[in-house]
Amino acid sequence: MATVSLQGVRKDFGSHTVIADLDLEICDGEFVALVGPSGCGKSTLLRMIAGLEELTSGAILIGDEDVSEKLPKDRDIAMVFQSYALYPHMSVRDNMSFALKLRNQAPGQIDEAVNRAAEILGLTEYLERRPKDLSGGQRQRVAMGRAIVRSPKVFLFDEPLSNLDAKLRITMRAEVIKLHQALKTTSVYVTHDQVEAMTMADRIVVMRAGQIEQSGRPLDLYDYPNSVFVAQFIGTPTMNILEGEVRDGRLNLFDGALAMDAQGLPDGDLLVGIRPEHVKIVAGDQGLVEGTIELVEPMGNETMTSCKIGQIPLQTCGTDRVAARPGASVRLDFDRESLHVFDARTEMRVQ
Ligand code: ADP
Repeated sequence: MATVSLQGVRKDFGSHTVIADLDLEICDGEFVALVGPSGCGKSTLLRMIAGLEELTSGAILIGDEDVSEKLPKDRDIAMVFQSYALYPHMSVRDNMSFALKLRNQAPGQIDEAVNRAAEILGLTEYLERRPKDLSGGQRQRVAMGRAIVRSPKVFLFDEPLSNLDAKLRITMRAEVIKLHQALKTTSVYVTHDQVEAMTMADRIVVMRAGQIEQSGRPLDLYDYPNSVFVAQFIGTPTMNILEGEVRDGRLNLFDGALAMDAQGLPDGDLLVGIRPEHVKIVAGDQGLVEGTIELVEPMGNETMTSCKIGQIPLQTCGTDRVAARPGASVRLDFDRESLHVFDARTEMRVQ
């Protein structure tokens, strides 16, 4: 196991800066997820850690060692890709032992490492099969097995589950978590799927245009996003973002249909976030504001409801079933404390 230290890492492709002077310290044994929209530089950063992409400037340390100039094979890392990259003509056993044979390890040691990895991953009975005779999930396990047998200092995962169907992805997600709990190998996991990041990672690093927008424990990012960008990236369904303004100690929302205590916010324009689960549809004439139901989406365990307050959309979700039909008037309620307040110009958190 080892720490990974990214120091002033920069990557230019021609005149295009893809990673801009990025610093990140990953602890020994930590599982870090890199998330962000497509094109923000996640894969490029991971490939730089792997040694598959040269740095334009800066340094990468694994443990105490500066590996910036080292070839991938000399970095003691193992990478798992979304395309499993298995050798089709080799058995599962040979796929898993290939790298160890290249290193001239003793056959007894190789067998031991492969058998142990196969046991951890539930692949023992498939060791003599070819990849074509395995399911997608089993192939992905073989790809992970190939990484495990090498006992690397660091695992690098590049969207490893995105080729799997939704159900299998959830199963494999749990397998990767259990694997990490068993091996405690420092791991960097790239995904565009924030649910994967939330459920798997010790820490999420949200990237935006080649820079770190915010980094923290999953629920801290969920509860205290620093910016509108993070607020809307983390959490499903997406946080509602409303235009608001403070005048004379009152916070006005929904084009003035609602005014509440500004609780110390200075006068000016704001963006106000509220998570759908914090908006409640309430009975009778209770609640803060009146809305119209646009769409009800029952999912069994919870119901998503799209409402409009005047012309302004507001999403709610909750475990209560919603009997009201589209077009019906409803009362909506939420706590002032559940609001996330951002500066309208900088889109950064103010409260
Ligand atoms: P992500 O993994 O977040 O989707 P990438 O790291 O793949 O993002 O890409 C980041 C940016 O770098 C994109 O704009 C992409 O077009 C660009 N890029 C990636 N690889 C190359 C390359 N080899 N040559 C030129 N541009 C590249």
